[in-house]
Amino acid sequence: MKLNSFLIILFIILKQIYAQCFEPIDEKRVKKVACGKWVTEKDINKVKINNNNKLVGGNETMFQVTFTCSTSDTVMCTKAQRAFVNAGNTIANTLKFKEKVLINATLMDFCAEENIETCALKHHIGLAGPQRLYSLLSDDDKIERIYPQALVKQFQFPEHPQYDEFDIFIRFNSRMDFYFTDDTTPIGPLQYDFEFTAIHELLHGLGFISYWQPYDEANNLKALCPAFALLNSGNDGAFDDIGENDLVTVKESIFDKYIIRLDKGTSITEYTKNIEQYVVNNQNATEEEFLQNLFPTMNEVYTLATTPKILGFLPHNSNVTDAVILETSIKYLAGSSLTHVDLSTYNNTSDYLMSYKSTPGKTVNDFISIGGNYSGGVIGPKTKLVLETIGYATESYPDPIKPQPFVKPQANLNSAAISSISNSVIFSQCYILICIIIILL
Ligand SMILES: [Zn+2]
Repeated sequence: MKLNSFLIILFIILKQIYAQCFEPIDEKRVKKVACGKWVTEKDINKVKINNNNKLVGGNETMFQVTFTCSTSDTVMCTKAQRAFVNAGNTIANTLKFKEKVLINATLMDFCAEENIETCALKHHIGLAGPQRLYSLLSDDDKIERIYPQALVKQFQFPEHPQYDEFDIFIRFNSRMDFYFTDDTTPIGPLQYDFEFTAIHELLHGLGFISYWQPYDEANNLKALCPAFALLNSGNDGAFDDIGENDLVTVKESIFDKYIIRLDKGTSITEYTKNIEQYVVNNQNATEEEFLQNLFPTMNEVYTLATTPKILGFLPHNSNVTDAVILETSIKYLAGSSLTHVDLSTYNNTSDYLMSYKSTPGKTVNDFISIGGNYSGGVIGPKTKLVLETIGYATESYPDPIKPQPFVKPQANLNSAAISSISNSVIFSQCYILICIIIILL
């Protein structure tokens, strides 16, 4: 989507599934918090009965927005709240949620006195991301991947760790010039449609996102690597940075599982496996050794991510020629490349929504009309296929593929016992902190 000066930072925390949990302090650090108990089937049934008792009428949406407005512009607050609700309804019309998706949405002045940290982002539309992430095992290739909480909940596992209160957080900057659907004047040539932007960002929060990251962007290294994750953060759970003695590994997202090379039809998970194998088996490697061994692989992925129309997302029940072409036609841009559909292919089509650029002066309805009035609205057929493939049910695809359920922790488990537990639990002991910056020019 094209948005001038649009920067989104996603703070993504993969917290420990049990024993120790963490909340973000800032984009570099997390703090230890009470984790909550292991939730069993009995607990889930009890909650369901209680919730059913509270239901008034049958009109509760499955996509619920808790909205906080901290600006003095009450008119804007009302419009923004409605836009978030409309965005949620649009998504819930396409995806058949089995469990409620809970959004923590805020409209705030990024430069208000109490928001000094966000003032650096004053020219940006906002921040968004999954509130919590989990690592789960795929049945077919036996690889663990990162899933956002909103998606994990849809699998309705009989037992699971206590979920975070919210699935996705989204904060919009009240200093931006937005157009709202209920504005009485037409959209201005430089205004961005709030609702369209919210839908786009919420889909990232639902899992439309790659976790391939630049390895060393500061030094302009042409290398991409899957997200780094700690395997063992120590007994106190304190996290300052990945230290010398911390066990680390790399993990891709469930979205990444389906990225293929369009020239060969092979999966990029092959690169992840290659990097993971080296990292896990060479925990004491120096950075020099790491680069010596893995730079060629990481550079190959970088080259793919900057070669037009070479990577695609392979939807369920389809072959290479049906793949959704991903954005690799631009100079590499963290948070834009790979995580979006190819602009040159999907511009002016019904699948424009998840392109990295947006056009000012166009409303949601304008985009639907330009795309040919697709019956499903602004979430186009290929975008829907991507969401179905990562695990969301729709009317035409009611039974998506699920990963393996959570493994219940052993009562006496501690970090010293790591080698005796299953792989899925090992990774559930780790947390990850990734900061993704999306610059949409
Ligand atoms: Zn985006």
